[in-house]
This record gives sequence, structure tokens and C-alpha cells, in this order.
Amino acid sequence: MNDVHAYAAPAADAPLGALNINRREPGADDVEIEILYCGVCHSDIHTARNEWANTVYPVVPGHEIVGRITAVGNNVSKFKVGEMAGVGCMVDSCRVCPQCAAGDEQFCEKGNVGTYNSPDAKSGGRTYGGYSTHIVVDQAFTLHIPENLDLKGVAPLLCAGITTYSPLKRHNISKGKKVAIVGLGGLGHMGVKIAAAMGAEVTVISTSDNKKPDAEKLGANHFVNSKRPEELKALANSFDFILNTVSAPHDYNVLLALLKTNGTMVLVGAPPEPAAIMGFSLILGRKVLAGSLIGGIAETQEMLDFCSEHNIVSDIEMIKMDEINEAYERILKSDVKYRFVIDMASLKDGANSN
Ligand code: NAP
Ligand code: ZN
Ligand code: ZN
Repeated sequence: MNDVHAYAAPAADAPLGALNINRREPGADDVEIEILYCGVCHSDIHTARNEWANTVYPVVPGHEIVGRITAVGNNVSKFKVGEMAGVGCMVDSCRVCPQCAAGDEQFCEKGNVGTYNSPDAKSGGRTYGGYSTHIVVDQAFTLHIPENLDLKGVAPLLCAGITTYSPLKRHNISKGKKVAIVGLGGLGHMGVKIAAAMGAEVTVISTSDNKKPDAEKLGANHFVNSKRPEELKALANSFDFILNTVSAPHDYNVLLALLKTNGTMVLVGAPPEPAAIMGFSLILGRKVLAGSLIGGIAETQEMLDFCSEHNIVSDIEMIKMDEINEAYERILKSDVKYRFVIDMASLKDGANSN
């Protein structure tokens, strides 16, 4: 391996640009993957711009990775050269703590090793993500890709898919449940598809009227615009469950008012600033405000198999690697339908000048 082409943010206020990075030689348990497609998650933007105050530069984002296996280590039994494989938000964990043993590697007591911007015990320095031509990952953190699904649309399942599937599954979303999905972006559109496939009656709560026709095509039964308070008020005490995917600060109290007694709102969107919650927003109606972080590796495979069975992929817009800065600006304007996916051939073809 050694030097491979990548795209990195050199600083919080600088655009992403070409950078060559080092990938380790595959060890006994590793697979080497030629990355074909990588989705663009809003977390890539939060991290590239240091909005969560934890970024070490240069950072190579990207944790919605699909590609072809080009080499395997001696102990690798799960994959063969030539097969397709996926990598999501984690590339390792301690594997022995209670959370890892329970299949919740994302909550590893030693900290999961993020696909990017984490200390890299194997290669030194930091982990580098999927905005690159190749990646080397332990087979235990590599996913099988269902053969019946379009590979480009599978990439976003590795983060947006599992992040929405996991809380919907945990809260037993099924036929008869009334579910609201707040924010129709990358996560939100996957939430609509998955909740609808689980049998729920789905309402999209959006700030973008132009997304209404799509919401219905994605599987939603109803659409409301949260900028029109009277529409929200009419939905008081209606939902069993709300999945909140919004990336920017907003009022949680008005959304909690839409839950039925004992209802739950799960936050997956991670705005950088704290929010004000009125105690009475939870007290009245014994409501629950909760959070959720991606999902474990076995659960991610379960989600891919669920999507295979229900023929679910992400709705995508393909971009070239050098269009990433423009793509970030469009995501910030809620102007993507509904996930950008980078065609990594555009990087292999010599987008790097250094
Ligand atoms: P995205 O594609 O940008 O979608 C976010 C959506 O939120 C937008 O499309 C927009 O939908 C809505 N929105 C944006 N600004 C808003 C505002 N000021 N008020 C109300 N609604 C607003 O982002 P994403 O990739 O889906 O990620 C969403 C969030 O989840 C990010 O914070 C990301 O870091 C986080 N995330 C968390 C996890 C986890 O494990 N918990 C995993 C991945 C991502 P409308 O146009 O419909 O209003
Ligand atoms: Zn993500
Ligand atoms: Zn652990």
C-alpha cells in the first residue's frame, strides 16, 4: 500500500484539497479495499470544520464506504479478493469490554476507533476515512454487501442507514405505530424508508416545502412544515416515536409536544450547541428524550440484510472528488436529494496534483 490519493481538510476554515496518505500493509486479519464510492455525511462537515471541537488536522473524512477487496491477510476467512465490502463509522474497538461483548462496539469503554479522526494504534497518527482510493480494515469491522442492491446507493447505508435503523428497531417500530421523522436529509430520508418498511405510519417534519412530493415517494404518509407553527400544533399528542435528524440548533420543546403520553424522541442529529429543554416538556405526558449513536457491527449487517430484503437503498446524487467543497455548501442549504456519493474513480484518475 503506502501512499494513496486522498482528499483532506487542512484546517477548520480551509477547503478540502488533495493529499497523499499512508495506508498500512494488510496485517493477518485485515482486508485491503479499493474504494469505489463514499457517501458524504453531515458529520464529515461538522468534523472538517471542527464544530465538535475534536478535530486533528489534516482530516480525511468519509465513513460510508463501499469497494472491492484487493488483498486479504492470512487469517481472513470472512472475505475473498474480488468481493464487495463496506466500512461504516468504526474500524476497531477493544472487543472485550461489556459494550463490545454486547455488540455495541460504538460504546466501547476504551472508545471505538472511528473511521476518521481517531488515534490509530496500528499505523500511528490518526485514522483517515473514505475520501481516498484505498483503505485497510480489520475483517471484524468490514461488512458484506447484499448483491441485489445498487452499490452506489448502498454506501450511505453504512452510516445514514444504520443510524436510523438502530433506534427504530430498538423502539419496536412496526405496523400501527405513528412515527415522525424530523429533517429530510441524508439520515431523514433513510429513516422514512426504513420506518415505512417496518410498517409505521410516517410523518415528515421538514423546513423545506419543495421536499413534500419526495417525502411521499420515499414512503411518508404525511408532510408538515415546522416553519408553520399552526401545522405543528395540530399534531399535538400524535406520535409514538419521533426520530430527530436535524443538524442545526432548533427548539426541541415544540417537537416533544407532538408525542403521545409515554412517547419517545430520539436525537441522532448532533447540533454543535446545547439546547434548552423545559422540564414540563417531558413531565407532562411522561415523555422520554433519548439519543442514539450509529449501531454495532452485527446490527449494521442486520440493517444491510433488512435493506436487501426490502430493496432499500439511498437516493443519491453522484459527485466527483473535486466537487466536495461545493457539495458541503449545498448540504448546508438542505439542497441535496438526498445524499451525495463520491465516485472515487474521479480521485484515482489523477485529481491529486501533489
Ligand atoms: P443533512 O443531510 O444535512 O440533513 C439534515 C436535515 O436537517 C436537513 O436536510 C434539513 O431538513 C434539516 N435542517 C437543517 N437545518 C435545520 C434547521 N436549522 N432547523 C430545522 N431543520 C434543519 O445531514 P445528515 O447527514 O442527515 O446528518 C444529520 C445530523 O445527524 C448531523 O448533525 C450529523 O452529524 C448527525 N449524525 C449523527 C449520527 C449518530 O450516530 N447519531 C450519525 C450520522 C450523522 P429539511 O430540509 O427537511 O428541513
Ligand atoms: Zn455519518
Ligand atoms: Zn470495548
